[in-house]
Amino acid sequence: MVKPNNDPGCRQFCVLNLAGFLARSEVNGPGIRAVLWVQGCPRRCEGCFNRAFQPFSPATLLPVSTLADTILSLEGIDGVTFSGGEPFAQAGPLALLGAAIRNAGLDVITYTGYTHEELSAGGEPAWPALLAATDLLIAGPYIARLAKPDPLTGSQNQQVIPLGTRLLPDGLPDTGSSRTEFTIARDGTVTATGFPEPALIRRIASHCRGT
Ligand code: SF4
Repeated sequence: MVKPNNDPGCRQFCVLNLAGFLARSEVNGPGIRAVLWVQGCPRRCEGCFNRAFQPFSPATLLPVSTLADTILSLEGIDGVTFSGGEPFAQAGPLALLGAAIRNAGLDVITYTGYTHEELSAGGEPAWPALLAATDLLIAGPYIARLAKPDPLTGSQNQQVIPLGTRLLPDGLPDTGSSRTEFTIARDGTVTATGFPEPALIRRIASHCRGT
């Protein structure tokens, strides 16, 4: 069990519990982006795409400083997307990482199962710091009956909220279609990301099983 880390005062020894990391993606926001999925989410959205990322169990534990060095050494990326799991359950270290990324001139997108109103009302001391380190917030729980094809959101209730001037609605991908991206790592691990249609995932899983 890894407790949510919301200590706003942590510095270089702060550790993030990561579920996954991609150095380059083109379906997690505008441009080419690194994507970081955190482990642990207190919400239990029916139909969640990332159920394996819900438990607050140790996955890959990495210091913020190590992650910042890794991300800032990547060439040709426009920004970084924080997803999960629930990023605001690890708001303290993510706020530090987001600030380092923004200081280097890159932009930050943060996904959350909380609504913007819930986050603005407070709850955890580090939430305002992560909001301040975020250029674009994609907020709200996934609601399966409101699912829709869209490049940024999984269901119609989710809010797309610019929190700064780096990512404005005019520069965002057109709505109306979703894209799925498959990445094959050197060790053969396949990562599917974006907002794949459930039927597509079922067909691929069936094909992989040979059924
Ligand atoms: S907030 Fe996201 S990760 Fe958490 S249960 Fe909902 S869809 Fe899954």
